[in-house]
Amino acid sequence: MTYEDVLAKYEPVIGLETHVELGTRTKMFCGCKTDFGAEPNTQVCPVCLALPGSLPVANRAGIEATIRIGLALNCDIASWCRMARKNYFYPDMPKNYQISQYDEPLCTDGYVDVELDGKQYRIGIERVHLEEDTGKSLHVGGATGRIHGATESLVDYNRAGIPLVEIVTKPVPGVGALAPEVARAYVTELRDIIRSLGVSDVRMEQGSLRCDVNTSLNLPGEEWGTRTETKNVNSLRSVERAVRSEIIRQAAILDDGGRIMQETRHFQEDTGATRSGRSKETATDYRYFPEPDLVPIAPDPAWVQELKASLPERPSSKRAHLREEWGISALDMQSVANAGAVELIEETIAAGASPAGARKWWMGELARRANEQGIELAAVGATPAQVAALQKLVEDGKLNDKLARAVLEGVVSGEGDPAQVMSARGLGIVSDTGALAAAVDEAIAANPDIAAKIRDGKVAAAGALVGAVMKTTRGQADAKTVRDLILSTLGVS
Ligand SMILES: [Zn+2]
Repeated sequence: MTYEDVLAKYEPVIGLETHVELGTRTKMFCGCKTDFGAEPNTQVCPVCLALPGSLPVANRAGIEATIRIGLALNCDIASWCRMARKNYFYPDMPKNYQISQYDEPLCTDGYVDVELDGKQYRIGIERVHLEEDTGKSLHVGGATGRIHGATESLVDYNRAGIPLVEIVTKPVPGVGALAPEVARAYVTELRDIIRSLGVSDVRMEQGSLRCDVNTSLNLPGEEWGTRTETKNVNSLRSVERAVRSEIIRQAAILDDGGRIMQETRHFQEDTGATRSGRSKETATDYRYFPEPDLVPIAPDPAWVQELKASLPERPSSKRAHLREEWGISALDMQSVANAGAVELIEETIAAGASPAGARKWWMGELARRANEQGIELAAVGATPAQVAALQKLVEDGKLNDKLARAVLEGVVSGEGDPAQVMSARGLGIVSDTGALAAAVDEAIAANPDIAAKIRDGKVAAAGALVGAVMKTTRGQADAKTVRDLILSTLGVS
């Protein structure tokens, strides 16, 4: 069954649960640092290792960041709520419970608007709550990095206790075949909103933004189907792929008269498919109860008002401003946003490029490379400053388009800045008129018939000679200079 066949028959309902690691300087319930990539088990203390007798103290910055996220997502902020213990065993969770929130989330009932193909979709937000992250298990000795086939498992508790905000959408029905794109657009918008708040670096590749995607299918007019939850989808592109592949998988089972199991599934980057995880636990399995070691959270309404008043401009309205500055259509701006290129282009312009020049590289050559490699645009290997420098070399006439693409290839392969790559690879435009004149003379001598035509006034024939010169200079000449030189050599200009 193709995707189109499936959507002609079934209606998908999606839902998204997103975890955002906050960028607070210290952990949620202790004073340990939160630097990414530190030596394993160097950012730990009795509290986040759950040694007997240690007690948590809430980090005000974590609560403030959660409220700001809630406000930016148009949520109501609870005037009083508690943390809760979520009990389960996991080797990378030293307390054997996670401090989370259950029936008293800090923020509830908001929404995010996303735009797709000129149409707006409102994604309801069920809740935004605060919890702590777990540590990280490393399975070594095997080929896949998974526990299967590993010879040893190691645990790093540096991440244990880092504040985590979970954002849960309401079910999203009625988006039909666009379900994968809507899911991606939502995560993109959410990422941009949270980044604009400065509360997290929201880097999917480093795990500071992690996404679980719920998908179900039903026949038109019937009740919603059983949903599966695809865990830890690690890029925007994977969000889209995970929804699409899960829709196709479920449809095949339903068409065979089968039943969808309520379970968690794992997204596989290499195949784009999901594989079965565990059957879904229910809330009762976790035996939630209010955390007795922490006082309730009762944010002062005046403080919440203050936080609301100081929210930054929404990414969507900022995009509207930028769209005017850059002079592009709404549709073009939307593709820029969906490609995750807004900030990259903004920074490239700030580094000195024209809006058109900046957009050309990020949405053209670099977007193509990112797509080919299945990676995010920001991870493609060129910085905004490098792209601005490249565009300047083009505008100064030191590179033509073709040579600039070759230089860019060197830049993304880590050979250095554009100017370095240009000189190391010998890619600059030949502007030495002596060398060019020799190539022009050679082309005229090799093509006497064409030269004669040009002398007779058929100037259009010069194109063939320009082509010949470009060939001998391996594309490293400026075509207009060559043409002028040919005409003046033949005495027709
Ligand atoms: Zn600690």
